[in-house]
Amino acid sequence: QSGARVRRANSKVPQYLERGVDVKFSDVAGLGKIRLELEEIVKFFTLGEMYRRRGIKIPGGILLCGPPGVGKTLLAKAVAGEAGVNFFSISASQFVEIYVGVGASRVRALYQEAKENAPAVVFIDELDAVGRERGLIKGSGGQERDATLNQLLVCLDGFEGRGNVITIAATNRPDILDPALVRPGRFDRKIYIPKPSLIGRIEILKVHTRKKPMADDVDYMAVASMTNGMVGAELANIVEIAAINMMRDGRSEITTDDLLQAAQIEERGMLDKKDRGPEMWKRLALNEAAMAIVAVNFPDLKNIEFVLSITIAPRAGRELGYVRVKMDHMKFTEGMLSRQSLIDHITVQIAPRAADEIWYGENQLSTIWAETADNARSAARSFVLGGLSEKYHGLSNFWVADRINDIDLEAQRLLNNCYDRAKEILQRNKELMDVIVDQLVEKKSLTKQEFFHLVEEYGHVEQMPKSI
Ligand code: ADP
Repeated sequence: QSGARVRRANSKVPQYLERGVDVKFSDVAGLGKIRLELEEIVKFFTLGEMYRRRGIKIPGGILLCGPPGVGKTLLAKAVAGEAGVNFFSISASQFVEIYVGVGASRVRALYQEAKENAPAVVFIDELDAVGRERGLIKGSGGQERDATLNQLLVCLDGFEGRGNVITIAATNRPDILDPALVRPGRFDRKIYIPKPSLIGRIEILKVHTRKKPMADDVDYMAVASMTNGMVGAELANIVEIAAINMMRDGRSEITTDDLLQAAQIEERGMLDKKDRGPEMWKRLALNEAAMAIVAVNFPDLKNIEFVLSITIAPRAGRELGYVRVKMDHMKFTEGMLSRQSLIDHITVQIAPRAADEIWYGENQLSTIWAETADNARSAARSFVLGGLSEKYHGLSNFWVADRINDIDLEAQRLLNNCYDRAKEILQRNKELMDVIVDQLVEKKSLTKQEFFHLVEEYGHVEQMPKSI
């Protein structure tokens, strides 16, 4: 639930603190010498005073570089776990907010909390989302990012040498980071975490099977050989799939075959087409079609939420294995945004929920729309907090409206309006929806051109985007 991240203006409950982090280095496998480097960081906490007296410099921040799923987050947690300190985390993509000042104030709040709860590890995931070289992005989105980055630099400098708050950041793109970030005293230590080797994969598999009922003769080498190129996250997945396999067959031990089959499934993508009934396909198609159809009704959105393609085809690594309507997210965060286009954005995100209600009725709702409904909810809150709503209009009211109930009520009102609007558009375009859903179920994806042809033929659209 997103409630954990809710801003509580009048309470001191830390919102970025992750409770119950109990990871140890023994939970992270296949890293060889890299682990030694991180063990050293634990010593900055445990032996910090001694280090300082001897003039040993404590690093400002540590940058973990490597592809997704290799265990960067896990390692950062293990540092906190081994040192017995608090773990604060945020993804830098959460910094890159649509309102000027929100990103910077989040950074400040994050560090304030960490300081109040020191010693602590501050973990920033996807650092490149905010740490891209300044000035590269034009427009207000760029300025906002600059402000956030500057604030981050200030916070990093504020902790230099103290050693009781250490920042660990993760990125897959160290090459595009702003040079200011990697200056001495800031992220001055880079640790590269590659995909695991054959031996590394065996070790990772063993860590994840530690607490599972494994057959005595499991051939880990065979499984590791079959999983060349896979990362820890995928290997962990394989073990889980194998366990489910075992249980489904009513057996009591996981065998090599279970693991090999699971590896195949992981490779193909979690759910193969065969595993998904026609009902599920239809629900997915409805979900995607609703967003696309509502989006084309909003001319303001043509730059930010432009439909690139629609597909419900399965994809590896995703729980439900489908790809949503592809939006141009770069344009979304970087473009100039009007108040109206934000309302439109919320309407698009809430559309799947509206479609479910229209086509299936209140009693047959699915949860497919949960993720986008969450997006809509948090966008609505930001909208109100940003002083854009009718009730709390303008910046002066931003500070007045800090009581959580007022904000939520206003956000709720906005959401309801958007919901009604989405419903109205979908009801008007029932025929178009049905055609698109049918085609999606049959073909699994539609190109942009195919989609817009159908819109032209069957749609009742308020305004078509000018360029397709
Ligand atoms: P990243 O932050 O690099 O994207 P994560 O740390 O989030 O990757 O990894 C996701 C999950 O994959 C972990 O919680 C863990 O279960 C598993 N995993 C990844 N790398 C390893 C590893 N080296 N050893 C053990 N498990 C791993």
